[in-house]
Amino acid sequence: MAKKLAINGGAPLRTKLFPAYNTIGEEEKKAVIQVLDTGNLSQYLGAWTHDFYGGPTVRAFEESWSSTFNVKNAISVNSNTSGLFTAIGAIGIQPGDEVIVTPYSMSASAVAPLVYGGVPVFADIHSDTFCLDPKSIEKKITERTKAIMVVHLFGHPADMDEILTIAKKHDLYVIEDCAQAPMGKYKGNYVGTLGDIGVFSLNYHKHIHTGEGGVMITNNDELADRCQMIRNHAENIVAPKAIKNLVNLIGYNYRMTEIECAIGIAQLKKLPSLLQQRLDNVAFFNEKLSAFPAFELLPELANDSVHTYYVYPIKFHQEIAGVHRNKFVEALQAELPSAYLRETAPLIGKGYVKPLYLLPIFQQKAAWAYHSSFYKGTVDYTEGICPVVEKMHNEVLFTHEYMRPGMSQEDMMDVVNAFEKIFENINELK
Ligand SMILES: *Cc1c(COP(=O)(O)O)cnc(C)c1O
Repeated sequence: MAKKLAINGGAPLRTKLFPAYNTIGEEEKKAVIQVLDTGNLSQYLGAWTHDFYGGPTVRAFEESWSSTFNVKNAISVNSNTSGLFTAIGAIGIQPGDEVIVTPYSMSASAVAPLVYGGVPVFADIHSDTFCLDPKSIEKKITERTKAIMVVHLFGHPADMDEILTIAKKHDLYVIEDCAQAPMGKYKGNYVGTLGDIGVFSLNYHKHIHTGEGGVMITNNDELADRCQMIRNHAENIVAPKAIKNLVNLIGYNYRMTEIECAIGIAQLKKLPSLLQQRLDNVAFFNEKLSAFPAFELLPELANDSVHTYYVYPIKFHQEIAGVHRNKFVEALQAELPSAYLRETAPLIGKGYVKPLYLLPIFQQKAAWAYHSSFYKGTVDYTEGICPVVEKMHNEVLFTHEYMRPGMSQEDMMDVVNAFEKIFENINELK
């Protein structure tokens, strides 16, 4: 009998690309033209004047961000990465310090401490949330630990009550990387407002974007001040501003432009409805995919918490399906194309990123932080230090993005039908 699955030479379930996730429209065009007409594309000055804080659109953007998230200070930066670097600098991380980080994230959240001579120490993730496991964090704390870098991975809020309790007990700062969780909530509060500093990404792949960009939020005015200086040439500012604590106050140019901020204002207005469409699509998939016994979906969030579903994670049970996750995902990728504006990258993936401590920068300890005479610890990055993340990544987790706004019911049914087709013909994969 002829093979049916596309991976074995059968006809794929669908070849037509899925709709693009494109959030840019007339509003952004109009906003950009308005800025261009003024001739003022960036009003920043790296000096202690009115323009130290940027031009009118930068300020309006920050104002709209802080009022949306109900937080005292919003500080725009040119990426989430520079925001994480700024946050590490602002809290005063120095050579000899350790920062607890997660192995399952975009690399920037783990390397950020290295920029200031701090040493990242990896704690394991929880298998229900894919975020840092508070129990593992506690085991990694030493007298050198100064901060915890929390990532709300895939949009799932981390266990903030437990993490904040640990932080308080050990007098640690908490930075929240909210790149994948804009408007995500933990027990009624926006993520990013629970720790000391929250950082958002506005890169092209995120819920909303300005091409490249980022925003930091904090209710701590002193930290906000330090972030603003690190963003914009601190060394010029400290004397006229009479700043006494110069730790880490070498400034960068991490400034956003007026054009990007104009786009950002328009994008932020769209965020609630974009998130709602995403959550509606997630509800559709939750219902359809719970019918497959080999799939384990995330437990429902209670207590007014909101998962923002940057990607849709599924735990795959090989012992039920009878095939390895990798085989299953490769078969799915053969049945379904990607989307417009994303032609070359599949919308389904095995796991997420390789556990970050396996990157060469960590394996080879190729940063001066490790060799500084201030560092008295011996950090361990050998394979096996975080067994949960390794198991999730190598065998259990897979993700898809077919719940992005713009997908129709028919589009999403094609995805469900592809899953069904593979389970019906699973023997072909054995
Ligand atoms: C995208 C992302 C970043 C980096 O954001 P940029 O704005 O591209 O610098 C950092 N952390 C996480 C969790 C991300 O998803």
